[in-house]
Amino acid sequence: MKTAIVGINWGDEGKGRMVDLLSQDQDIVVRYQGGNNAGHTVVNEKGKFIFNLLPSGILRDDIVNIMGNGMVIDIEHLCSELDSLQEKGIIVTEKNLKISDKAVICMPYHVLLDQYEEERLKDKKYGSTKRGIAPVYADKYRKKGIRMGELFFEDSLKERVQDVVKYENLLIEKGYGKEKIDWQEMYDWLLKYGERLKPYIADIGVFLTEAIRDNQDIMFEAQLGALRDIDYGIYPYTTSSSTIAAYAPIGSGIPGEKMDRTVGVVKAYSSCVGEGPFTAEMEGEEADKLREAGEEYGAATGRPRRVGAFDVVATRYGCLVQGADEIALTKLDVLSYMENIPVCTAYKIDGEKINDFPVGPKLDRAEPVIEYMFGWKEDITKCRKLEDLPSSARAYISYIQRALETKITYVSVGPGRDEYIKID
Ligand code: GDP
Repeated sequence: MKTAIVGINWGDEGKGRMVDLLSQDQDIVVRYQGGNNAGHTVVNEKGKFIFNLLPSGILRDDIVNIMGNGMVIDIEHLCSELDSLQEKGIIVTEKNLKISDKAVICMPYHVLLDQYEEERLKDKKYGSTKRGIAPVYADKYRKKGIRMGELFFEDSLKERVQDVVKYENLLIEKGYGKEKIDWQEMYDWLLKYGERLKPYIADIGVFLTEAIRDNQDIMFEAQLGALRDIDYGIYPYTTSSSTIAAYAPIGSGIPGEKMDRTVGVVKAYSSCVGEGPFTAEMEGEEADKLREAGEEYGAATGRPRRVGAFDVVATRYGCLVQGADEIALTKLDVLSYMENIPVCTAYKIDGEKINDFPVGPKLDRAEPVIEYMFGWKEDITKCRKLEDLPSSARAYISYIQRALETKITYVSVGPGRDEYIKID
């Protein structure tokens, strides 16, 4: 069985904990896009972990974790994630971690280019996390990327680094007017961190094809959400990769395969990191309260997230783009303090009521239509069955299910591993 777990909104929906939960029965967990620009937070009996690159199944020793060819990998950062696991006594071997030989390496100059561009943009910036993601994906597509598999061939690697650095310096020196980079330094960096990672590098297509033939259970996890997808998201406030389930086979090494099941992760309210239109956004004290209750600070950057009401229009679009078969609704407990719960049920653009999510400049003009639902004002973190929930919490869940026309199969009521309700 091939299952994708994807974000339906702007990211930070709580995918990490859903992967951790659903990975119990999996043989393999694959990450198929993105780099260390976002983070998954997983809390379990071993502690609290933030992964920017490693797949969330890494905490279970019986799962093979794969970093797919759709990813961009800062190898120094990956080594530091492996170090932090080692410090907590979690041993990663080539049996439980495999890295695609086709994944592109995020180089130190990509991080620099990201910073130079944000500096140049000043107040017109797009909210980059400055981890080099846009420059490294740009290099992938203009064929200036260096792939993990090249680490095994030092002579040709050296030549590639010399050529590519010459090209990068055109932009760095002549474009941004900054100090040029030294190819030898880049080459040494690749050898230093690459050496440690070599045992994990493999042809993932071959591995996964065999796993599928053996009827193994494989989970595909995405970073960020549908609205950050490079094609279908709120461009240009998107990330530089495909965050949608349809990309999972391509970014993993099995482009001819299809998913059997797609679980969309939806948060019980909205949150968003960085710039761009965010129609259901709350302001002032109302926002501060929700941000505090939901601990909405970026896992990768610590930046306070923007927060807002549950957005029916954006979430329905997210479900469509992801092809979600079912929904995991997270962080319902965070709303427990509210007397009445705001929901953005539609948009108004130039006086016209809109139910279909508009992408592009039209979205900038959208205003939220807010309606209120009854709150429950009691602790729900101990609820383990739908019947345990107060009736207004059940009403909130069924409203969302109806609005999204997609079945809610999980409701999470706390960050802990067992703090969820399964709905059959
Ligand atoms: P991801 O990138 O989609 O995995 O999202 P994050 O890791 O940034 O956000 C998830 C955060 O919310 C983590 O701190 C989780 O421990 C926490 N979390 C996940 N589900 C719940 C929940 O149901 N209730 C509460 N209170 N926290 C949750």
